[in-house]
Amino acid sequence: MTATPAWPPQSAPRLHVETQLGEGVVVSIDGNPAHYLIAVMRVKPDDIVLLFDGRSGEWAARARDIRKRDLVLECVEQTKPPETVPDFWLCCAPIKKGRIDLIAEKACELGVAKLQPVLTRRAVVDKLNLDRLHAHLVEAAEQCGRTALPELAAMVKLDALLRDWPQGRPLFFADETGGAPLTEAFANHPGPAAFLIGPEGGFDPAERAAIRAHPQALPVSLGSRILRAETAAIAATAAWMTINGDWK
Ligand code: SAH
Repeated sequence: MTATPAWPPQSAPRLHVETQLGEGVVVSIDGNPAHYLIAVMRVKPDDIVLLFDGRSGEWAARARDIRKRDLVLECVEQTKPPETVPDFWLCCAPIKKGRIDLIAEKACELGVAKLQPVLTRRAVVDKLNLDRLHAHLVEAAEQCGRTALPELAAMVKLDALLRDWPQGRPLFFADETGGAPLTEAFANHPGPAAFLIGPEGGFDPAERAAIRAHPQALPVSLGSRILRAETAAIAATAAWMTINGDWK
């Protein structure tokens, strides 16, 4: 007796597309994604490729009309419903290229809903390439099975972030000078949340005072060791997912 092949096939490549997906929707792929499917993954006619558009869950699509530089994929079946994204925002100061790329990748894998870059005085980087960060989010989502990308917000200055902070969302503030233990802070504030992480040089004293004075800010400690900004961002997100997010 032959074994029933797994559905969707475990080896099926996964790709994010902009086209809104649904039963019978036909998606034309060219450029780098086509190169990846045709030349790297060696997709053949009738092979399955898994697609997601960030809104419509995940779809199994059958490959057809494969040419040298483009191909067509036809959605045949929804393989995952749209995911429920935990309501967690990661607000972090821009840091050097490879390190902010790491934050984007890990934020996506860990299930963050929104990545909010925040410009602070001691940041050594004052511009961010949002297209590059978006590409890292897409790549991470393709790899980890997410069906929704984290929202990538434009960078805002710290004072504007604090001024326009929405009601009803605690702003956990990773303060290396000390704060409440995470478990206690999270237990007292279930529901929507955000975490603010400083840059390589930390917050300056005036910024720290302004954040601490904000009615929704909750200074928390990530322990006695000084973590690099990217470690703090990843650790804080994992801790929130464990206690108040979808790792429960
Ligand atoms: N002020 C620093 C290092 C900043 S670490 C210095 O002495 O150079 C970068 C950011 O990570 C900090 O702004 C803070 O938000 C977070 N962070 C690092 N270690 C932390 C800890 N033990 N507790 C809370 N936040 C921490």
